Formats: sequence, structure tokens, C-alpha cells
Amino acid sequence: MSSNIYATLFARFQHKLDATCIETTDGRVITFREFDAATARIANLLTSLGLQKEDRVAAQVDKSPEALFLCLGAQRAGFAFLPLNSAYQTAEVAYFLENAAPKLVVCPAKAKEGITAIANGATVLTLEADGSGSLIDAAQDQPDGFATVESAADDMAAILYTSGTTGRAKGAMLTHGNLSTNVAVTNHFWGWVPGDVLLHALPIFHVHGLFVACNNALYNASPMLWHAKFDAAAVLKDLARATVLMGVPTFYTRLLSLPNFGKDAVATMRLFISGSAPLLIETFTEFTARTGHTILERYGMTEVQMAISNPFDGPRIGGTVGVPLPGVSVRIVDEAGTESPVGETGAILLKGPNIFRGYWQMPEKTKEDFTDDGWFKTGDMGKRDENGYISIVGRAKDLIICGGLNVYPKEIEELLDAMPEVEESAVIAMPHPDFGEAVAAVIVLKPQASLSEEAVVEHVKSNLANFKVPKAVFFTPDLPRNAMGKVQKNILRQTYFPAKA
Ligand code: ATP
Ligand code: MG
Repeated sequence: MSSNIYATLFARFQHKLDATCIETTDGRVITFREFDAATARIANLLTSLGLQKEDRVAAQVDKSPEALFLCLGAQRAGFAFLPLNSAYQTAEVAYFLENAAPKLVVCPAKAKEGITAIANGATVLTLEADGSGSLIDAAQDQPDGFATVESAADDMAAILYTSGTTGRAKGAMLTHGNLSTNVAVTNHFWGWVPGDVLLHALPIFHVHGLFVACNNALYNASPMLWHAKFDAAAVLKDLARATVLMGVPTFYTRLLSLPNFGKDAVATMRLFISGSAPLLIETFTEFTARTGHTILERYGMTEVQMAISNPFDGPRIGGTVGVPLPGVSVRIVDEAGTESPVGETGAILLKGPNIFRGYWQMPEKTKEDFTDDGWFKTGDMGKRDENGYISIVGRAKDLIICGGLNVYPKEIEELLDAMPEVEESAVIAMPHPDFGEAVAAVIVLKPQASLSEEAVVEHVKSNLANFKVPKAVFFTPDLPRNAMGKVQKNILRQTYFPAKA
């Protein structure tokens, strides 16, 4: 059987061709039949341009239904889709285009000249936020039908660059098998039912919005209420027609900041899912108090899509990311590779049909990130409780080693965040002449609040061992975040301790 992701999805929505697939906030309705025809026209166009199996189709475009047609049209024809964050500037895009060597690059008309200059001879077509452009013009006269190519499980369906939180983004090669199996598993595990409606407000250049969200809706033959970006008031309004929302933690904090967000606003909702960054326990608790719903937090990454999740049926425990998804194996190990006992922090390793094929053109890095017996080293640290629920403790790269002792920033951040004056905090390593590294805290205060460095130090001192007490405290109006809302600790380290970074 073909593993082609389009074939997998089509098999599930083919009985609902006249139903709504996408409805945009400006009232545009696209049926599954139109979705199928649009992806066929793109598949025909790309094939006619002479692309070969696994050739890359890059797109740096605004979110639109056409951008999704491009992704699935390319995959349907056996090519690899490569979305790029629209926030990336020319120098960054130049690196991706050089690295991935796409045959076709799609961008808005205003960027065409600049992109053409760095596209290394690739064809450049345009696509605007409203779905117009030379890509769609060229596809217009192509046939509405296309025989989806047969793909093996290991054939490449996409290159997705990681978020670049810890350094330069890496291109993760995801296969048709990765996509087809992960959507089937999550759809079942999250209890999707006929009649579900997904509110889609995530960007579609990232694994969360593109594959986890869109593929689940398509696989379920569910309509997507399509928001070009997350606007809390607009999302609140549309929640009245939705049953499922997938979001990053900031979606939930922003919804909670609306005074009229409560039980009435979520009367039709069945499921709220959070991921891509840690959900603060305060957000989790306040959300339940305000809405009666328990946010389902899950863990994944570009390289593996979804790997660990709180259950749909069964307790969803705040501060944890739940249990391994069916088919996914998780090991938590110490430096020697020995399984860590319950409650002890170790490195998270993964195995399963969801694990990517490797980093594009980085065989050394790929080798480094897998154990000899084939486990993927996520770079995240975590621990398991006695019920098998896993908590993410942080990234191995953010670990602070103070005089030979491990300090996990999260423990200190949680303590600081609980201070009434503190909005949020980030704990990073600072160079220290005696200990090698020591703890530094960067703090964002609540509006109008004030707090002294001494008070911060005292607070940590009275709660934690001395080596965890910050040796430096900085106050800042905002923490640097990337497009996925992730705190960029590498930038904080560069800012406060430039010599070390
Ligand atoms: P890069 O690999 O380029 O440094 P990145 O790791 O941020 O960037 P992504 O693949 O977008 O790129 O993010 C995956 C990471 O996000 C995970 O490795 C983990 O650190 C974090 N993450 C995802 N979900 C959660 C969660 N529920 N709780 C805590 N962290 C999470
Ligand atoms: Mg990563």
C-alpha cells in the first residue's frame, strides 16, 4: 500500500467531498472536492515543470489555503515541501535555499526580485495572502485530476527547518510514512469524532500548524475555521462554532486575558490542546477554573512530530506532557545511557515510526543525534513519575553545571514565577571563575511591580540549595522569543554574557 500522505488523507475524506474543508474568516468556503481539485492542479503543474521525486518545493508565503494546496499538491506528486517562516530575512532565506537547493521557490510578488537573486537558478513563482499570484495562474489550466503517486514509507515528503531556538535551524527530513502514521495515531489518541470542527490559528510553516493540525482535520474529514493569524478576539468569536483548538501556550494566556472568556464562550468546544513550548501550571489551572476544560498538553518536535501526550480519555496532568503515544518508545537515561529511575531527570530518547529520516545534508549531525542502536536523542531532559507520566525539565543545552552539580533552570524559574511581582523569568548560565558556571536570572516584572535584586536572591536562598541561587539578576521588559513563541536563551546568553556565547 502506498504511504503517500495525500492518499492517506484522501481515503478518509473522499466520502465527504461536498462538505466544507476550509472556511476563512472573510467567508470563503472551500469544499473537499475543491481542495482535491486544487491540489491536483498544483501536482500537475509541478510535474510539468520537470520536478523529480523528492525535489524540494520551497515556499516563504503568508498563510493562505493556497499555501496548503501547494504543500499537499507537491506531496501528492512525490516532491518534498519546504515551508519557510515568513519572518526570516534575506540572509537567512539565502542559507535555506543554498542548503536545500529547491527546484521551485514560491514567495509574494514583492519579494520576487530578492528571492530570484538568491534562488540559485530555481523557478520562482508568486503567491499572495489572498491566494492570487503566478503560481495559481499557472495552475489554472491544469487538469483537476491527478493520480497520486505511490510513495514508500521512507520517501521524503517534507523538509521542515527546526525553530532555531538553540542555534542555526536544521532541516529535518520527514517521510510519507512519518506523516501518515503520526496522523493516524494522534487522531485516534485525541478522540476525534465525526462532526469535529478545528479552529486553525497557527502558522503553517511549522510542524504544529502544518502537519499536526491540518493533517488531523483532513484525516477526520473535518472543516477548519481558518484564521490567517492568532487574534484573540477573532478566535474567541469563532470558538462558538468549533470543537477542537490546537495552540501554543500564548494562545491560552491571551484568551485568558479577555474578560469575556469563560464557560459560555466554549460551549461547543470539546478539546483544547497545547504544545511547542511549556504550558505554565498557572495557565493550566486558571483555564480549568474559567472554562471547566482541562487543557491537553503534549510534546513533540519538528524531527518527530507528536511523541508524548496527555490522554484524551484519562487524567490530564498539569505540568506533564503525558505518556508515550502508541507505537512510540521513550527512554529516559543518564549520561552512561542507563535508564533513570522514576522521578530522576535524564535525557529523553525516542524510537518509533514517527522519527525523521535525518537532517538534510548533515550526515554528521544526524549520526551524532542517534545512538548506535537507533534511538533519537531529542536534546530535551525529562523525568517519569510512578504512573508513567513524563515531565519536560528543559533542554540539555540550557542545563547549568555549577561546580559539577546539575542545575535545571525550570526549578528556579518556577520559584521566581511564583513571586507576586514576577510576570515571567528565564534562568541561564553565567561564567563563574570558581564554579565554571553559575545561575543568572532574567526577570520580567508585572506592570507597576518593583522588586530588588536582593529580594530575588533572598527568595531563592530560602527555598533552594546555595548553588542554585542566582549570582546575577537582570530585569527586562520582555524575553526574546522566536516566531513560535519560544524563549531564546541563546540570545539571552549572548546579551548578558557575550564572551561566553
Ligand atoms: P532548534 O532545534 O532549532 O533549536 P526547536 O527545538 O525550538 O529549535 P522545534 O522543533 O520547533 O524547534 O521545537 C521542539 C522543542 O520544543 C522540543 O525539543 C522541546 O524543547 C519544546 N517543546 C515542545 N513541546 C513542548 C512541551 N509541551 N513542553 C515543553 N517543551 C516543549
Ligand atoms: Mg530542537
